[in-house]
Amino acid sequence: MLETTIAGSLPKPAWLAEPERLWAPWRLEGAELEEGKRDATLIWLKEQEDAGIDIVSGGEQFRIHFVHGFLEHVDGIDWDKKTKMGIRDNRYTVDVPTVTGPVSRKGPVHSDEVRFVRPHTDKKLKFTLPGPMTICDTIADAHYGSRPDMAMAFAELLNAEAKELEALGVDSIQFDEPAFNAFMKETVEWGVDALNLARKGLKCKTAVHICYGYGIQENIDWKQTLGAEWRQYEEIFPSLNNSDIDQVSLECANSKVPLSLIGLLKDKDVLVGAIDVASTNVETPEQVAATLQAAMEFVDPERTVACTNCGLAPLPRDVSVDKLRALGAGAALARKAL
Ligand code: ZN
Repeated sequence: MLETTIAGSLPKPAWLAEPERLWAPWRLEGAELEEGKRDATLIWLKEQEDAGIDIVSGGEQFRIHFVHGFLEHVDGIDWDKKTKMGIRDNRYTVDVPTVTGPVSRKGPVHSDEVRFVRPHTDKKLKFTLPGPMTICDTIADAHYGSRPDMAMAFAELLNAEAKELEALGVDSIQFDEPAFNAFMKETVEWGVDALNLARKGLKCKTAVHICYGYGIQENIDWKQTLGAEWRQYEEIFPSLNNSDIDQVSLECANSKVPLSLIGLLKDKDVLVGAIDVASTNVETPEQVAATLQAAMEFVDPERTVACTNCGLAPLPRDVSVDKLRALGAGAALARKAL
């Protein structure tokens, strides 16, 4: 009961990529880079185990960007044809690559990573993939002519990938869908259908991570426009509760999401974010326990998993380690109190 896990990314060691920077370029290349990614992954497995994290992940040490890390292995995309696009409903404007033909995987994307990680831990292993709607919000379309159609095409690729990772021993696959709180109407209309297709036939646990983003300036500015209560999820939780996904990950630490909205997810496990990723202040175990207990007013302990709000990647490495420990210790406190 009250297992612990993390939402996704962890910082890269300074010898692997520039620290405290989101999507920092690699500092190594060639064979040294590949060795560095593996070494960094081992460090984070050990840190998670030492911190008492039950469902561990490789911390996304093999990829720079959570969407492009997948798209780089997909045919049908022209990386030289950049299109200026306002993504997450114009929260950021970026030059994105363009889909110019039917998409297909060049081959397995993350299998080698999982083959490496799996034998190194006896804990349950979690793996994160971008969700189909978020992919479509991170790439321009000059082929499909319809976002839902493009999302379904990507969902098929994600499904094939997820099935391979499951066969290699992954216990939990999480689809990251930060686009879900920027496009609530579209989420209900077709985003959840695309997510169902991405998880179709999987027997392992499946989760969706929705969030208000890393603690970068664009997100901080955007959050200030959302008012005193963030009720966006109210529109999408009924659809998510009817989806085939087992678990929903959301931020509860220093968040303005009313915890009562969790009550709309009565058929799902809830990954309760009890670690703020937008602050270098390390939570005390008591604070983590209090966040979990507040959430458990609306979700049974049997359906609660203690988690981070989002990825820890942009934080200093030592702060991230301390936050992992606070998460493990806080969950242990909350467990004891039950
Ligand atoms: Zn997130």
